[in-house]
Amino acid sequence: MTLTMALIVHKYGGTSMGSTERIRNVAKRVAKWARAGHQMVVVPSAMSGETNRLLGLAKELMPDPREPQSLRELDMIASTGEQVSVGLLALALQAEGLDAVSYTGWQVPVKTDSAYTKARITSIDDARIRADLQQGRVVIVTGFQGIDTLGHITTLGRGGSDTSAVAVAAAMKADECLIYTDVDGVYTTDPRVVPEARRMSTISFEEMLEMASLGSKVLQIRSVEFAGKYRVPLRVLSSFTPWDIELAEEARSGTLITFEEDEKMEQAVVSGIAFNRDEAKVTVLGVPDKPGVAYQILGAVADANIDVDVIIQNVSHDGRTDFSFTVPRNDYARVMDLLKGQVAPAMGATAVTGDPKICKVSIVGIGMKSHAGVAAKMFRTLSEESINIQMISTSEIKTSVVIDEKYMELAVRALHRAFELEAAAA
Ligand code: ASP
Ligand code: MG
Repeated sequence: MTLTMALIVHKYGGTSMGSTERIRNVAKRVAKWARAGHQMVVVPSAMSGETNRLLGLAKELMPDPREPQSLRELDMIASTGEQVSVGLLALALQAEGLDAVSYTGWQVPVKTDSAYTKARITSIDDARIRADLQQGRVVIVTGFQGIDTLGHITTLGRGGSDTSAVAVAAAMKADECLIYTDVDGVYTTDPRVVPEARRMSTISFEEMLEMASLGSKVLQIRSVEFAGKYRVPLRVLSSFTPWDIELAEEARSGTLITFEEDEKMEQAVVSGIAFNRDEAKVTVLGVPDKPGVAYQILGAVADANIDVDVIIQNVSHDGRTDFSFTVPRNDYARVMDLLKGQVAPAMGATAVTGDPKICKVSIVGIGMKSHAGVAAKMFRTLSEESINIQMISTSEIKTSVVIDEKYMELAVRALHRAFELEAAAA
């Protein structure tokens, strides 16, 4: 990043905005960047716990809102958390002696579709923000919220402020989007599981996308997709360093998500290990092996609006086969009911079994494109720990296995060691 007169977007998460004291710290940090000559746009989340509190109030009045008219009201309620935090941050900046102004999503406007509680951004008008920047103002824009074509307030899904920040950065053609958060970067795996996990100074966009979708919770997946589509230079860094550290040092800290493979300094074959316990396994036994059965099973699941992840079908014996797949654990009961009640009997399958106590562990790395034997090394490592693999799925840059949930930590640690992730050159 050029350090003179750049256009910079900062995003601060709920923890960083958690109290007026912390907001004052955010303001001092932003002021440091502004005084160094940068044009600053800041996108904060609601104060930590606030979105949960607001949605909790809603739940007291309607436990399970589903109708669009009720979901609309959830967005009306949840969006207020961000409205408060932008106002507070603008005040804090003014108290620091800076000219600052805050805007909600509808004032910018940030336009979205009408999918309440999980809306997608369709466009952002940069005119108002640009005019303020030209006047030398720091501009603060709410995360998480937008407005649809009919003028209704929408929200972007939990964790959506990341996506707001990246989208604003894309619209403004910002030089860099810095995501300040309560961790100091992207790690080879979750340091709570593997204390030796190492922060990466760079990670490729493709790897970050896999890590985010496979269970690393550092960035909302949509924000990474957005960054990829518009090639927004993105950095994840800590908001807990002292606000007055050297700007040049701060600008180099954390993890940079890069787009050029050769920009990536670390050439490890496997860059990181992701895991999640959010899925459950379902098996339909004794399915007649004939055209259309996969469609009959998965079509019914898709019609119920349930996502399917890993899928395997065995070779058949005597004209029958077993068919297994994973679904989000929250949808497990619904899928079992659906299959046992209608789908399996209709196709003459012998039984439906399932297991919600599974986990998915994945190795991720650009280097897997050009190296053979990586998956084999993963399988050997797991076998040495006597961990049984139930399902496997691969893409060009990842291999995932489904295993018993009780072995998750053991598997992640063993793989982290086997691929020497704590030792890779920084
Ligand atoms: N405040 C929203 C949430 O808690 C959005 C965000 O923080 O990114 O999900
Ligand atoms: Mg977040």
